[in-house]
Amino acid sequence: MWRSEEVWFFQPREPVFDSNTIIIDDEELVIIDPGTESREYFNEILGETGNSFNDVDIVFYTHGHYDHFEGTSLFSETDKFAFAPDGKRIGNKIGFKVNEIEEERTMSFGDLSFRVLHTPGHSKGSCSLYLPGKLIICGDLVFANGSFGRVDLEGGSKEEIKKSLEKIDQLDFGHLLPGHRDIGGKKSVKKSLENLKEL
Ligand SMILES: [Zn+2]
Repeated sequence: MWRSEEVWFFQPREPVFDSNTIIIDDEELVIIDPGTESREYFNEILGETGNSFNDVDIVFYTHGHYDHFEGTSLFSETDKFAFAPDGKRIGNKIGFKVNEIEEERTMSFGDLSFRVLHTPGHSKGSCSLYLPGKLIICGDLVFANGSFGRVDLEGGSKEEIKKSLEKIDQLDFGHLLPGHRDIGGKKSVKKSLENLKEL
């Protein structure tokens, strides 16, 4: 577990292919990418943040891949958000309405105002949540070691992922919170752009 003020970052225990989960605990309690996790797991990590299961207000998805959204059935009462068209894809799979959000929308949770950025390439509706000057939550766009999300799945595109990486390379942040494995930073993005050239 890693924490920066109201933002908590949890890595899965088992199975390791599962996505990382981020919790924002401010006036709203937000879960980003519930992965495929169980009620026990959420009880445990929500407990670490001083909350419980029924306190969750919002579930947000970085993109429409099952290793990021399958745990949603546990959160039947919450508002759900994702970028189009992945929101629709998730909604169809889980049987709940997922609100689709637009580029540059600001999502404010208490004092934290995140910008929603469309960062496609790994999937059509992949998006990132950017807290200016601090951190970016980037799903499977790029990972700490400078590798980037697969572009060979449905809706993936090497050209799009390059544009998305260039876009976040312009931003000011210290921590990069990816959908899998460890936390990275600006240099993860620089390295991924280098790696992309070799593809
Ligand atoms: Zn994915």
